[in-house]
Amino acid sequence: MAERILDSLRRPFTTRMGKEVLIGGSIGVSLFPRDGEEALPLMRNADTAMYRAKAAGRNTYEFFAAEMTQQVQGQISLENELRKAVRNMDLTVFYQPVVEAETLNVMGAEALVRWPQAEGGFVPPSQFIPIAEELGLIEEIGGWVLWNACSQAKVWHEKLNPDFRVAVNLAWRQLRDPEFPDRVREVLEGAGLDPRFLELEIAEEVLFRDPEGVGDTLFRLNEMGVSLSIDNFGSSHSSLKQMRRHPFKILKLDRSCVADMLTSHEDAVLVETAAIMARRLGLRVVAEGVETEAQLAFLREHYCDMFQGYLFGHPLPPEEIMKLL
Ligand code: C2E
Ligand code: MG
Repeated sequence: MAERILDSLRRPFTTRMGKEVLIGGSIGVSLFPRDGEEALPLMRNADTAMYRAKAAGRNTYEFFAAEMTQQVQGQISLENELRKAVRNMDLTVFYQPVVEAETLNVMGAEALVRWPQAEGGFVPPSQFIPIAEELGLIEEIGGWVLWNACSQAKVWHEKLNPDFRVAVNLAWRQLRDPEFPDRVREVLEGAGLDPRFLELEIAEEVLFRDPEGVGDTLFRLNEMGVSLSIDNFGSSHSSLKQMRRHPFKILKLDRSCVADMLTSHEDAVLVETAAIMARRLGLRVVAEGVETEAQLAFLREHYCDMFQGYLFGHPLPPEEIMKLL
């Protein structure tokens, strides 16, 4: 029955205005009496199963299973933990070195947020950043990372290298805030950092969500003297047009292309073409996820200006970066 319902929902229908509309459904099923003997628990369990169906990619159905409740509770407790961690700022920022192609000297670092756990180890950002976005905590986290990176860069300028650059990743919600450029200015002023030492990374998929809507923010950031990079280029909807349309200065090739370029002809061509194109449009190219000497040799022949990856250094706490330098 669930399949038949989904099937009929999948067919496009036409509104009175003549517009064709596509919808879909996600169905959760609970069974009486196995999943509950009364309406309320049956509905609640069907609801839990529906969330699972949504998470599985929508347009599908799931039967309720007892472990789902545990998973939902696990998710709720992760959300509560994250709220607490943000309230107490129990987060930390690691830095991954970025090296210059010609000399392999470290010329900057990317700030990568970490959530340390009491029992040791970290929750990876790929796991908690999406939750933070959903809970509306990302602005606070992002602002804090920005402040951290700018003050850290100032310390490195004084102690190590007056030209050291820091890169900070931006989330969609930060870019969407019309006051974001003012926030960046305040942080830079507070830290006493010249804007030319700050790079802001925008993932291509974030850009793709609303290329028009973020245009003004990107323009203002560029006017302030901050460098903008397209991050994870080659991972999803790579658009050469976006490279030109916004004032980007740097293109970061996604590590998935770098990982596959020695075995996949398509990835090799993508790396080469993107790098040539970026160069000709006046962007500097960073290859991410460089792990081996063989990858380095290939990239050095293909117009990359900078490298980042485990071959040169993992993301490290700031003290370790000091030692490395
Ligand atoms: P990203 O911006 O693409 O960052 C690079 C990721 O690649 C990092 O993962 C880094 O640890 C990993 N990496 C670096 N070199 C290598 C390598 O040689 N091999 C492999 N396999 N991986 C390498 P990480 O730290 O887990 O961060 C994941 C993502 O989380 C970042 O991807 C970024 O999109 C996001 N993120 C991290 N910090 C922040 C933040 O402060 N704000 C926002 N909005 N997003 C953040
Ligand atoms: Mg990045």
